[in-house]
This record gives sequence, structure tokens and C-alpha cells, in this order.
Amino acid sequence: MLTAFLFVAGALVACVRPQQFDPSAYAAEDVIERDFAIIGGGAAGTYAAISLADQNKTFTVVEMTGRLGGHTRTFRDEATGASIDIGVQLHENIPIVRDFFKRLNSPLAAFKPTDFGNPKYYDFTKKVALPNHTRPTIESDYVAVLNKYPFLDDLNNLPDNVPEELLLTWPDFAEKQNLSAASTEAGLLWPATPGNPLDTTALAIFNDGNHIELAEYAGAAVRSAAHYNSQIYDNALAELKEHVLLKSSIIAAQRGSSRKDGVRLIAETPSGRKLIKAKQLIIAMPPVLDNVKYFALDQQEHSILSKLSGKHYYAGVVNNTGLEAGVAYTNVGQNTPYHVASLPGVVEIAGSASPGYFFYWYNSVDPQTQAEIEEATRCTIKWLQSESGTEAVEPTFQDFADYSPFHLSPSTSDVADGWYGKMKGLQGHRNTWYISSLFVVGSTQVWNNTRNILPEIIDAARS
Ligand SMILES: Cc1cc2nc3c(=O)[nH]c(=O)nc-3n(C[C@H](O)[C@H](O)[C@H](O)COP(=O)(O)OP(=O)(O)OC[C@H]3O[C@@H](n4cnc5c(N)ncnc54)[C@H](O)[C@@H]3O)c2cc1C
Repeated sequence: MLTAFLFVAGALVACVRPQQFDPSAYAAEDVIERDFAIIGGGAAGTYAAISLADQNKTFTVVEMTGRLGGHTRTFRDEATGASIDIGVQLHENIPIVRDFFKRLNSPLAAFKPTDFGNPKYYDFTKKVALPNHTRPTIESDYVAVLNKYPFLDDLNNLPDNVPEELLLTWPDFAEKQNLSAASTEAGLLWPATPGNPLDTTALAIFNDGNHIELAEYAGAAVRSAAHYNSQIYDNALAELKEHVLLKSSIIAAQRGSSRKDGVRLIAETPSGRKLIKAKQLIIAMPPVLDNVKYFALDQQEHSILSKLSGKHYYAGVVNNTGLEAGVAYTNVGQNTPYHVASLPGVVEIAGSASPGYFFYWYNSVDPQTQAEIEEATRCTIKWLQSESGTEAVEPTFQDFADYSPFHLSPSTSDVADGWYGKMKGLQGHRNTWYISSLFVVGSTQVWNNTRNILPEIIDAARS
């Protein structure tokens, strides 16, 4: 009875009549029957789709944007030959990465730290150059904590009783553990980390800066040879295009409680509404309430997923900057705790392998518009021009990406209350599985986790 109510409630959210889950309400070509429905075509969704294709399983990917790749994004200008990765930069040099790039015909090259450019430090907020600033590196005391708590690499393995010290903010943890000054500051500097690092828990810092990140920093990292990390996703789309609904989203869902019920989803697509009948549903988009509210959540699902939120992070490509090639203009705080850059603001403006083009990252606690971010970035570039005495040219913005909601997590008190275990307990509930980056941060690990859980998902579709 409760299930029936929830189905109807789900339908009402999206103004869909219950009979619209009936295939007879659709033209035959608008009813898609598959083993799996994958919602979201980023790192997790594309990895799952290619793996299922290779096992002769049937699936449909429903992706909101006009491309696959999610946070992996490459700005490409055919006219100039420019190719600039603005999101994902590198992967750990391990078999799963090499195999996936090979499978999708995308050559790899070794990643060198200088691919980001040689860093020069400034306080962009105070408008001060800091020529004597040096970046600290992680020391053995940091690694000792990671080794002591191996579950930090992948929060799938987090115990229900989370050690209290890991729920302290990073500065409090560092003080309590008497961490070295270098490790304390370096722990706040993992790349592409949204929000205020001073408010971030030690758990989240270590989950981000985990053994994989350390291995990558130690040199075990690769990138697309052509600075085109999106190539794997573009090639995946070319191969799978008849199984991918782009610019599409789910507007209503029925998910049965027994395996034989499967799921029925209504997708709004550029060629009209489609009914998707699948044995199992794979959620590969951020499962925040805004996205999953159309899936007729039951009470258990709602109470878990409603606790999840993401942070804000942005990136873009700019040329005609007048800035020096091969330099990563990096924002640090002159007098802030641990030299943390003030927010909101540009994190860095880094030279790329394409002459004249720079990519920038931008961090803000609160959401900002593209216009606000580009104006703030323009002001920073204009100041850097005057500071370094280069020509005062007008920057041209070429691309922009909003990565919100990024670094999904529940509140600290919900972590203490066993949220990760409860989330893990949702796997397979009502024929629904979650493979996006909830338990790990980097896409290398997202692929690993997707590979690990797929046999269970495939098995569920058999029953
Ligand atoms: C600036 C930046 C740099 C990074 N650098 C690296 C790096 O160098 N190495 C690394 O390993 N990782 C890096 N990461 C992390 C990496 O991007 C993530 O680990 C990975 O993208 C997570 O994969 P995902 O599939 O969970 O999410 P995503 O890749 O974001 O994919 C989610 C997909 O779901 C789609 N979607 C969202 N809502 C809906 C909806 N309602 N309906 C349908 N589809 C929807 C999105 O459009 C997207 O395609 C970086 C991230 C950022 C932002």
C-alpha cells in the first residue's frame, strides 16, 4: 500500500498520470526495454555502459547534457587546434586506467607536475605578489594516519563507529595529532577541492588526499597524450550513441520492491517522452534530492538521500590574457591560517599546452553566476598584467563549467550517525544502485568502485 502511494506521489511530482507507465500509452518506438537504465553519463555512467556493452548487456543511458564525460571536460578549438583539459587532469597509472583508455582508443602519456605550469604565488584578494612563498609537501606523519585508517581511501569501508578524531575539522585534527606544519598545510591543498578547507573534516581531507592521490603525486600519473581527457567519453558516445539519450532527464519513476518488478521510468527527451522498462536502475548522477525527487523515493531512501549535499566549484578557459606561458598563477593567503586562499576567488590560472590558452579554477562557498565568476577572473588577470608589467590586453573567455554539486557529503553529525553505512545499505533497494562519486573523490576510484559493484548489479538483473 505504501509502495503504491509512493508511486503515485512520484508521478504527481512530475505531473505524469499513473497510466503513462503503461506501454500501451506510447508508440512502439517510444518504449525502450533494456536490462539496465543508467542515469548520468559521466565517469561512473560511461564506465558502466562500456562494461555492460562488453558483456552483451542491454542498457539506456539518460544524460542531462549534450555530451558524455561529466566533470571531465576538454575545451577544443578546431580552428586553432587548441585542446585544454579544464576538469579532470590526470589518472593513476594503473591497469584499469590504461585498459579503459585503450578500449576507447585514446593514447596516454605520462603526467608531469609541470603540465600545470610552474607555480608563481600571489594573494589575489590582497593583490600582493609572494615571490618567496613555497608550497609544502606531505610528510610521513600524514601517510601514517592514512595507513592507520585504510578505510579512508574508500568510504564504502567506513566503520559505523567513525573514530571521533576524524570528524574534527582539519586544523583541530592537525593540532590534536601534532601533525607537522608541512603536512597540515599540504593537506589543505589537494587540487580541485571545493568549499572552505578550514571547515573540512579530517575524514574528507584524507578521503580526497588518499593513497591514490599520493601515488599520483609521486609520479604514477597519466593523462591523455593529446591533452584531450574527454576523448574516451567522445569515443564512447560515438560507439554507444543509439543507447544514449542526451539532453534528457527522468520525470517520473515506478520502482518495484521485488526483483521481478524491475523499474519503469519516464524520460523527457528532445524527441518526446519515452517509457523505459529496465530490470535494474543505475544512478550515476549526483543523488542529491534535486535529482532524485522524481524517482518516487520511499521513506528510507528520502531520509538518507535528503542528507546529501554538494559544494560549488567552477572552471573555465581564457585566452588573450597577456600572461606568461608555462606559469600557474596560484592564489594563496598572505596572512591567513595555513596560507589558505580567501573565498570566493580564483584558485589558479594555469598555462596549457595550447599557446595563449589558460584554464582557471574558481572556488566559492556560495553559488555564483558565470558572469560574476568571469568578471572576478578578469579583474584578477588585469591585476596580474599590471603587477607583472605585461601588456594590458582584454581577456577573452572561451569556455565555462559549473561543477556543482561537487564533493557530495552528509553533515558531520550524519557521518557520526552512520550515514555511509546506511547509504551502502541502499544498494539494490527497489532495484536501484548508486555508482557516482559518493564514497571516493577521484574518477580513477569511481571506475574501480563501478567495476567492483557491477557483478552484483548484473546478478540482480538475472533474478
Ligand atoms: C575541476 C575538477 C578537476 C578534477 N580532476 C580530477 C583528476 O585530475 N583526476 C581524477 O581522477 N578526478 C578528478 N576530478 C574528479 C572527477 O571528476 C570525479 O571523480 C568524477 O567525475 C565523478 O564521476 P561521476 O560519474 O560520479 O560524476 P560526473 O562525472 O560529474 O558525472 C555525472 C553525470 O550525471 C549527469 N547528470 C547530473 N544530473 C542529472 C540528471 N538529473 N539527469 C541525468 N543526468 C544527470 C551530469 O551531466 C554528468 O554527466 C576532478 C573534478 C573536478 C571538478
